[in-house]
Amino acid sequence: MIKVVVFDADKTLWDHHNVSEFEEPLKLVDANTIEDSKGRVLHLYPEVREVLKELKNKGLILGLATWNTEEKIIKILNMLDLIQYFDIIVARTYPYKFLMLSDIIIEIHKRNIHVKPNEILFLDDRRGHFGNVWLYLGNVKCLEMWKDITRYRDIFNILNDATNE
Ligand SMILES: [Mg+2]
Repeated sequence: MIKVVVFDADKTLWDHHNVSEFEEPLKLVDANTIEDSKGRVLHLYPEVREVLKELKNKGLILGLATWNTEEKIIKILNMLDLIQYFDIIVARTYPYKFLMLSDIIIEIHKRNIHVKPNEILFLDDRRGHFGNVWLYLGNVKCLEMWKDITRYRDIFNILNDATNE
């Protein structure tokens, strides 16, 4: 049964590929859109907000594992009013998702919650990360965003399938 869902940010939660390059001041264009001072824009993908809220209401632990500066990620999540949904945010200036996931697992254990690798669902638009996740962390359920699932609501099918396994 899945207890933890970990999301990538760029190209997974929103359509921009690297929000670390966003330059201040940032402007909230509408609830799901941010524009930086140079005209760079990010749009939150459809259903993200609703799905995060629903996962949280189901009692799942939500994590974020992103190759970005922590400062920028916290700022953007605050502007989009999404920060409330994430229990653990790991933003690093390197791309190694298996290290970020292991930091998330350590943090969960510190809270006296025991999770096994197969109780973690990891969503990322770059399949290339999954090999090291499996090699170093074990049987984490990894989904390539927009290939393995094509809309956010599909996450619930995966959760139901995992429950029935
Ligand atoms: Mg990405």
